[in-house]
Amino acid sequence: MKINIEDFDWIFFDCFNTLIDDFDEHGDESGLGSLPSLAVELGFFVSSAAFVAAYAHARAFRQDGRETLLPERLTHALSLTSHHHKVGEIAHAVSRMQERWEEEYHRMIRPTPGASEMLTYWSARKPTGVVSNFFLPRRPESYLERFGMRSHFRFVVDSAEFGYRKPNHRIFHHAFAQARLSVTDARRVLYIGDRNDLDVRPARQLGMRVLHFNRSRHRSGVEATIDGVAAIYDWTDFR
Ligand SMILES: [Mg+2]
Repeated sequence: MKINIEDFDWIFFDCFNTLIDDFDEHGDESGLGSLPSLAVELGFFVSSAAFVAAYAHARAFRQDGRETLLPERLTHALSLTSHHHKVGEIAHAVSRMQERWEEEYHRMIRPTPGASEMLTYWSARKPTGVVSNFFLPRRPESYLERFGMRSHFRFVVDSAEFGYRKPNHRIFHHAFAQARLSVTDARRVLYIGDRNDLDVRPARQLGMRVLHFNRSRHRSGVEATIDGVAAIYDWTDFR
């Protein structure tokens, strides 16, 4: 799609499955890898599905827009087992699971195709920032650094570091502050992300210009673009 460069002064990007891909071969972006089977191996659940259900519960536990960190999510999920475990056993299992997660996740992540070239083009023309959900602080920034993309951005905001997660408006307000913009400047920002619930809807509510990065060419189970929202399917479309 052709963007009119006069229409905006900043570009805000989502991070995962927008700049860095972390979905697996089934299109799943939970990032859990083999943790469900490890939870079974460690004797907490009888099936991977039972762990996944407990984890989903632990993840959605907070209704106040705050981020829940990975160790907290795992501790909560394991405490939902019907098997009896002592507190120390849960803590030990959580650290085993976190170690496993670190190994697997670092191998799984890769730059989104075309993201680096797109950033080289746009960061020479507009100031850019990142607004990311993640369950460990400062990780989006360090992963962008690992893939040579960090230097393109004026700021990287993440939910674990800031405390609130998308779609809560506070994290977007925090990004405006990083850009030295006020909320009434929202129309000066072009926001690009892959999720309707976490990116497109809140960014529209706040009055930003929105571009949906529709990943359906690369990934199964992607929601359709919302009517009336501009979309791109590959980074090469965004110039
Ligand atoms: Mg995303």
